[in-house]
Amino acid sequence: MSRVVVIGCGGVASVAIHKCCQLDDVFTDLCIASRTVSKCDKLKEELKGKTKTNITTYKVDANSFDELVKLFNEYKPDIVMNLGMPYQNLVIMDACLECNCHYLDTAAYEPEDVDNPVWRAQYEKRVKEKGFTAYFDYSYQWDYHEKFEKKGLIALLGCGFDPGVTQAYVAYARKHEFDRIDEIDILDCNGGDHGYPFATNFNPEINLREVSSEGAYYENGRWYSIPALSVKDVYDFDGVGKKDIYLLHHEEIESIVKNYPEIKRIRFYMTFGESYIRHMKCLENVGMLSTTPVEYEGIMITPIQFLKKMLPDPASLGPRTVGKTNIGCIFKGVKDGKPKTYYIYNVCDHQESYKEVKSQAISYTTGVPAMCGALMILKGLWTKTGARTVEEYNPDPFIEALDKYGLPKRENYNPVLVK
Ligand code: NDP
Repeated sequence: MSRVVVIGCGGVASVAIHKCCQLDDVFTDLCIASRTVSKCDKLKEELKGKTKTNITTYKVDANSFDELVKLFNEYKPDIVMNLGMPYQNLVIMDACLECNCHYLDTAAYEPEDVDNPVWRAQYEKRVKEKGFTAYFDYSYQWDYHEKFEKKGLIALLGCGFDPGVTQAYVAYARKHEFDRIDEIDILDCNGGDHGYPFATNFNPEINLREVSSEGAYYENGRWYSIPALSVKDVYDFDGVGKKDIYLLHHEEIESIVKNYPEIKRIRFYMTFGESYIRHMKCLENVGMLSTTPVEYEGIMITPIQFLKKMLPDPASLGPRTVGKTNIGCIFKGVKDGKPKTYYIYNVCDHQESYKEVKSQAISYTTGVPAMCGALMILKGLWTKTGARTVEEYNPDPFIEALDKYGLPKRENYNPVLVK
């Protein structure tokens, strides 16, 4: 028996909800709460007769602490799965603390308004001290650690694929394959083709903010920043083939170096096609990626939010996306006094995902780990309280659940390394 509130009803939430409903003996009661309640009602209707999970729907503005507290007090969830936007992470965490429920999300907090002077001052300080310029970082959510610990609650941060599974892979590699890890390259490849000249495979605002930011990597105790998309290589991915990879900053690097200080270097690479980069650069050059509102005929419009309206909804890409994703980590380190390399990854097929849960593989590879993270907490397999990331927990039951519920691992003991 469990009571779960899912915030959001987009691409990722829809997969997580489908997967929770497949495990209806654990996820017995589920409330889908989002801004546009008609999407929640539509999904509830789709799942009718396919699950024993008792589904309710609710209209909520996740920016409102009062609305969230009203919902949580009425529904009394054991856990709140925040699968909406990362802008609302902190207010949802506050509401969870107020109403004594566990919390889970899939992306680190970032502010919607990056011109807010209070936030800006903190940001500039971090850029100076730490040396990476991404708008997202874990410090805001780590500040909640003691509050969650004191209440005996868990805030599981970043439990999608990357962040999420990639950190479980690090914990798994360290536990089973290495006495010491020296280097990690996280490789995120989407070999899917949706047939549009330009579309993002998850929320356009978050995707474009991430990709257009400066890149960063960590080496020998410090961060190195690089201009956006300025480090490029090619990698031959199992199940996909050769793809251009670009070095980006990604939030799990920050938590992995905190939790595994032995690691000398971590980099994160993502694949992009030429058309995606050409369109993104052009939109950036004309100011369409700006988060600063502009006045248009008396109305204030935020360019990136208007752009989101014009782009295909990632949740609608499912039927037309073909190909596979391949996401994983390559390790260099030492085992029994000898140098060793190891690659652990998952290959996920867009069309297979669509057949199963009506979504493309990017939503699938995020929604399944979110369900598995909630499962770990609800079944009492992960019990450490506080605001923590995935690598802080025992990776074995989580990876076993991923193997079982749709994202099986593959391993390679002699991988080609990135230069
Ligand atoms: P979508 O845009 O498809 O869905 C977002 C959902 O949140 C929508 O249902 C939207 O409602 C709802 N929402 C937005 N604002 C509010 C609000 N104020 N109150 C209530 N509901 C709100 O996004 P995705 O599903 O693609 O992405 C979801 C999250 O997953 C993002 O944070 C993204 O960064 C993260 N992600 C993580 C990955 C990982 O591997 N860790 C990979 C991919 C994504 P409405 O329908 O009204 O717009």
